[in-house]
Amino acid sequence: MLIEQIRPDMTLAAALFDRLSLATRRGRGILRDSYGSGEQAAHDIMRAAAETIGLETSIDAIGNLMMTLPGRDRAARRIMIGSHLDSVPQGGNYDGAAGVVAGLSAVSALRQARIEPDCDITVMGIRAEESAWFDIAYLGSCGAFGLLDPACLSIPRSDNGRSLEATLTERGFDPQAIRERRPLLDPSRIRAFLELHIEQGPTLVAERLPAAVVTGIRGCKRFRNARCIGQYGHSGAVNRPHRHDAVAATVALLHHLETVWLQQEQAGADLVITSGELYTDPVMHGPSKISGETHFVIDVRSVSDATMNAVAAEAREAAARIGEAYRVTFDLGATSDSPPAVMDSRLRASLRDQLERPFEMASGAGHDAAVFAKMGIPTGMIFVRNEHGSHNPDEAMTLDDFGIATGALLGLLLNFPLS
Ligand SMILES: [Zn+2]
Repeated sequence: MLIEQIRPDMTLAAALFDRLSLATRRGRGILRDSYGSGEQAAHDIMRAAAETIGLETSIDAIGNLMMTLPGRDRAARRIMIGSHLDSVPQGGNYDGAAGVVAGLSAVSALRQARIEPDCDITVMGIRAEESAWFDIAYLGSCGAFGLLDPACLSIPRSDNGRSLEATLTERGFDPQAIRERRPLLDPSRIRAFLELHIEQGPTLVAERLPAAVVTGIRGCKRFRNARCIGQYGHSGAVNRPHRHDAVAATVALLHHLETVWLQQEQAGADLVITSGELYTDPVMHGPSKISGETHFVIDVRSVSDATMNAVAAEAREAAARIGEAYRVTFDLGATSDSPPAVMDSRLRASLRDQLERPFEMASGAGHDAAVFAKMGIPTGMIFVRNEHGSHNPDEAMTLDDFGIATGALLGLLLNFPLS
């Protein structure tokens, strides 16, 4: 068989999505609760399928599932493909699980074509990525690298109040691994990490494209406690030159940031800016008052640290300038920062080569891939078109689109660019 003729095992993929839906549907939505019976059912389904294909399976101390196709050189650094198998309450069938199904469909195709890869390829079913259950994201992937703060063991599960520690113990896992910050995976032994995930926004539907290569996972720079201090006054009695209007000044600042965003966008930068909270003081404000104070948030996200820093600097400068013009004082406060995770450029280029209509986009939501990238592991991600967003029962990914994106992953495995 010619290498170009090898296609993902779509029979397996369709069967796995059906089995997942059957086992974890509760009413309209999907329930795969982190470290609960729903997530466990998904792990059991994947493990059984892996063993049928003939993969080696193992489970680490905190329940991550490893399904390995042995390579020619067992000592060589391995390639990993994975995603999470948990869901939010009343979630959809594809968020997370699609990435594990993709790994198994690709590896099954290699197996059927009797191709022995040069190194091990491990499909990883990652535990507890969603923060809905233990109020902390990426438990499985962070735990695998020994990155979790042991204090997380006392976090209660949001629905039943059982601590993470008690929950892990009940499932037969070892909370001691988290307490000791014991690494279960060695980043220097991983050649690359790949993740397929449904797109959670509307871009691919709007672009009429089945799949996109992810450039990076956006970081965030957030002015969490920004304030503007002016002076309260009578809305009828104070003319413009004598006002210290905190609302007018805040609106001017936010409008200015909107124009900065447009300029950055026109220059090709990746950027989103949001002010999701904006208050006057309900004790002091009134319909016939000039507002003397506002509290607001500026949330800046980008795959580029430089872009976020430039916007933050511009926000501070503009706050000083606008504050003077409006006779008010801005106090933007400190930012809380989480850095972006940049995808490996060679993996990106190879994935683009696999797509008939190559398209790249940033990921606005976080993914386990970010944890691997931050560990210095070359990481690549591909998005699949998905209608109606994610984290709801209406996630709609077609098997055709899934096949195209998984085909790109398989093509990458067959022409792997990294030694
Ligand atoms: Zn997800």
